[in-house]
Amino acid sequence: MDHKLRILVRLDIDRNSAVLAVTGCLTTESYRALLPVIRRANALVDGVAVIVDLRNAIHVDAAAAEALNDSIRLEHHHHELGAVTLQLPDMYPACGLLASLPPVPRLIAAS
Ligand SMILES: [Zn+2]
Repeated sequence: MDHKLRILVRLDIDRNSAVLAVTGCLTTESYRALLPVIRRANALVDGVAVIVDLRNAIHVDAAAAEALNDSIRLEHHHHELGAVTLQLPDMYPACGLLASLPPVPRLIAAS
């Protein structure tokens, strides 16, 4: 199966925030590719607020969302990352590749 991670990076004109809009599939494999993009967005401008928006992703694995959340918090804790906000859908969608599976409710709180 080919779950593609698609990310659109939007930097505010005033450079206060960078939004990483994920529209593809976030899986336990693909979320790792998101981490360097978050680090690079964070390094673009000093003090920029990075927002990772997963609300329009076509597929979000619950385990991947939790692993991403854990990684962001760990790197923030070690001062390797600034403020990162994770915007999650209320229900994790499963893409057409997994059409037989129902959406999974979100367990972790939105930050
Ligand atoms: Zn998928």
